[in-house]
Amino acid sequence: MTQALSELTSIRVGGVPAEIFEAKTREDLIEHTLGVWRSGDDWLVLGGGSNMVVADDISELRIIKVSNLGIEPVRQRDESRVTVRVQAGENWDAFVAQMIEQGLAGFEAMSGIPGTVGAGPVQNIGAYGQELSDCMVRLEFLDYETQELAILETKDLQFGYRDSAIKRGRPGVITWVEFELQNLDGLSRPLYSTQIAAELGVEMGAQVPLLDVRNAVLKLRSQKGMVLDANDPDSVSCGSFFTNPMVSDAFARTLPESAPRYENQDDDGLTVKLSAAWLIENAGIKKGFSIAGSNAAISSKHTLAITNRGGATAAEIIQLAEFVQTQVSNKFGINLVPEPNFIGSF
Ligand SMILES: Cc1cc2nc3c(=O)[nH]c(=O)nc-3n(C[C@H](O)[C@H](O)[C@H](O)COP(=O)(O)OP(=O)(O)OC[C@H]3O[C@@H](n4cnc5c(N)ncnc54)[C@H](O)[C@@H]3O)c2cc1C
Repeated sequence: MTQALSELTSIRVGGVPAEIFEAKTREDLIEHTLGVWRSGDDWLVLGGGSNMVVADDISELRIIKVSNLGIEPVRQRDESRVTVRVQAGENWDAFVAQMIEQGLAGFEAMSGIPGTVGAGPVQNIGAYGQELSDCMVRLEFLDYETQELAILETKDLQFGYRDSAIKRGRPGVITWVEFELQNLDGLSRPLYSTQIAAELGVEMGAQVPLLDVRNAVLKLRSQKGMVLDANDPDSVSCGSFFTNPMVSDAFARTLPESAPRYENQDDDGLTVKLSAAWLIENAGIKKGFSIAGSNAAISSKHTLAITNRGGATAAEIIQLAEFVQTQVSNKFGINLVPEPNFIGSF
């Protein structure tokens, strides 16, 4: 009997697929995926299921679950830089914890992000001033277009904020990823998050023991329901449901003074990143909000997360997301873009 995807996704929605194949080795992953592609059937690559909303009817879909494991050092450029190859099915946070234990810096501020290593490059995961692309070197990619394996370097992925060439429409499967981490004598990279700095009582840019950063991040994240926790109903979510919008400086000036804004100077000029959570709250949607009769609700800890309060359908999750988008658009003229992947038709 095939499991429903509601049992394999963090927001606990999704119907019963045609098949679930769990690939426990890289070779199995490659061989099975090629077989599915040749069949012409609809397919989905599933990691930890923490960034997807899956439709209630997916009876035609074949699921390829990525579960290949292994972490191995592959190169040491000099005393302070180590490259590790991580198989795609490894749990992201377990990998981060292991690197911290070995005294390697690079991802300490990204502690507690759910999901697998292989899914990380898809949306260039990040938190508290660090992003996967900061330390990624290359990855192995089974390309749907060519049906062949390719090695993609960081530049090939055209990473952006929660974005990559894969997310923008280059289908395929990541089998492993290589990262270069730094030995900074047990210290973190310079802190680039005011929240972590405040939590630790140090200045921005300070370097502190890796474990201190991890502990501070895990504390901050659990206060927002952003760590998967069986005892926290606010973590039955996809994390942030919307990305923070990037707007022009001129547009940002039309917003109230109190709207948080983070300026970013790049080739296209001055752009401003806004806080999606602030926009939602100031469009009148409060923590815990729910549409009458629906089992989907805004998290009681953070307006940016949509949660399943028990028995919600995928359609109810999408209905609430669309309601939020409409309210924000009516109030501020901004179209919030969902972060999770929507699978199937709604
Ligand atoms: C409580 C909570 C907090 C979160 N906090 C953060 C955060 O701070 N920062 C952040 O960036 N994200 C965050 N997320 C989102 C999520 O954890 C990440 O996007 C994570 O990388 C998803 O991993 P996954 O293995 O669960 O991917 P899945 O949900 O299984 O898949 C996500 C997408 O990647 C594709 N995919 C998965 N594996 C592969 C592979 N091997 N090859 C090719 N494509 C693949 C899937 O087809 C799908 O399109 C959070 C989610 C939750 C539930």
